[in-house]
Amino acid sequence: MVVPFVDLAAQYRSIATALDEAIRNEIHTFQFIRGKKVRAFEENFESTLNARHCITTGNGTDALFAVFKCLGVTAGDEVIVPAFTWISDAETVSLCGATPVFADIHPQTYTLNPAEIEKKITAKTKAVLVVHLYGQAAHMHEIQSICESKNLLLLEDCAQAHLTETNNRYAGTFGVAGTFSFYPTKNLGAFGDAGCVVTNNDTLAEKVRRFNNHGALEKEDHETEGTNSRLDSLQAAVLLAKLPHLKQWNAQRSEHAKRYSDQLRDESNIVIPFVRPDSKHTFHLYAVRAKHRDKLQEYLSDKGVQTIVHYPRALHNLPAYRHLHLKPADLPVANMIQDEILSLPIYPELSMEQIAYVCQNIKDFYRK
Ligand SMILES: *Cc1c(COP(=O)(O)O)cnc(C)c1O
Repeated sequence: MVVPFVDLAAQYRSIATALDEAIRNEIHTFQFIRGKKVRAFEENFESTLNARHCITTGNGTDALFAVFKCLGVTAGDEVIVPAFTWISDAETVSLCGATPVFADIHPQTYTLNPAEIEKKITAKTKAVLVVHLYGQAAHMHEIQSICESKNLLLLEDCAQAHLTETNNRYAGTFGVAGTFSFYPTKNLGAFGDAGCVVTNNDTLAEKVRRFNNHGALEKEDHETEGTNSRLDSLQAAVLLAKLPHLKQWNAQRSEHAKRYSDQLRDESNIVIPFVRPDSKHTFHLYAVRAKHRDKLQEYLSDKGVQTIVHYPRALHNLPAYRHLHLKPADLPVANMIQDEILSLPIYPELSMEQIAYVCQNIKDFYRK
């Protein structure tokens, strides 16, 4: 048996007619930039999330960059970022001239640990960026009260958390803004790069909309300088065709996660993902902690099971951040997780047989 890490072809086949038609129709509008489907997708995503504004962008990294820029994050500022996440969360802070300050993650949820945030706050701290990693909601209740009491901006990276819920609200609607990526393998994925900013703040919404369109809302209306980071109309058409299926795809991911966890719960060499009771985990990734992780990964690969490490190095251990002079042990939980974490295949079209095969091979590896 072969179990690929993701199977984009399977998702395409399940709605091929609708996708082909959406793309063909969009081509014939010849409005490849700022076409009607772009705003149509934004409106749909706004109502799906119960957010006032969705502003689409070229990708999820640009969404983060635009938010930091438009909130005035600049040289001399510090932004608290989890030490264990994708580099976008830190590089966009640096791009604004500010400094990313890494805080350690919670050992159970792998998201920013509220207690660690407090230790990193200084007079220069301007914002806290939480990441709903793997689809798990960050500890929003605690982090919101820290940000309120210390007067810090709260931002959410929802690139892995489309329709993740906590305390009966969607991720992305707690802070001043949430950012999403629609990279092809995300829970909602375009056929190329794509992203958006979500916010309830009218002023920020207009600034972001201007920033990513050269400072203009309409042609020649350049209030300021900006950049060029817009969603293509073709990608908007793809996302519009996929959005109605997102809830069901997420539900399928959750069922698969439950199957994995049921079969792996008693395996003492594996730690299954923790699921917070007051939250809906959308399982962008099903990541376990595994003893002898690298050997297990090799064993599974030989058996046809493709796995990936998200992420092999915590941000403070990357060469890009050597100027911060952090030692691996400065962020002990992030450091431990990078060595033990392993993402197993998960996508809506995965079969029960494939899940059983993955689990059986994991158990076989430890019994050898
Ligand atoms: C995918 C991802 C991003 C970046 O999204 P792009 O669209 O690839 O720029 C940012 N943060 C996290 C946590 C991600 O997983």
